[in-house]
Amino acid sequence: YTGKTQSQLLTDKVKKMTVKSYQSIPVVVEESASAYDAICTMFLEDVGTLFVVNKDGVLIGALSRKDLLRASLGNQDLSAIPISVIMSRMPNITYCHSHDLIIDVAKLLIERQIDGMPVVKETDKGLEVTGRLTKTNVTRAFVELAEGQFD
Ligand code: ADP
Repeated sequence: YTGKTQSQLLTDKVKKMTVKSYQSIPVVVEESASAYDAICTMFLEDVGTLFVVNKDGVLIGALSRKDLLRASLGNQDLSAIPISVIMSRMPNITYCHSHDLIIDVAKLLIERQIDGMPVVKETDKGLEVTGRLTKTNVTRAFVELAEGQFD
């Protein structure tokens, strides 16, 4: 007997749940893509958020469904709108690392009122996108915890 309470045991488990184990594959688009291209990519890849990279593959922005809906209001030609003018930009992009705790990322998602964030790795050129961590991943982690699969 370890002398730990049920609550401490649960806390121990939560503190072992890192981004690395729950992240998904990221979907990135180049900054030169149009709003039309981005909508197609979102449907084809079945994601709610796209991460935008420059020619060097470095993270420069994020694009959500609502960003695209906003750009679609009115009768503009969506293929003529570059995503670089409608995306959210660095340094205002919230990101995480694969060694971060799921609980900390979950708090960030709530605080910043976003659905997901890129998992990044620092390189000489800047931040490289290696994964995606969304509310869905956090939900999956939560269910696993309740079902005791995380031992
Ligand atoms: P939606 O806008 O479709 O509801 P979100 O709630 O995720 O999706 O996005 C809200 C706003 O936050 C959008 O303008 C989007 O560009 C921006 N955003 C999305 N993800 C991030 C992120 N990781 N960091 C900073 N801003 C983000």
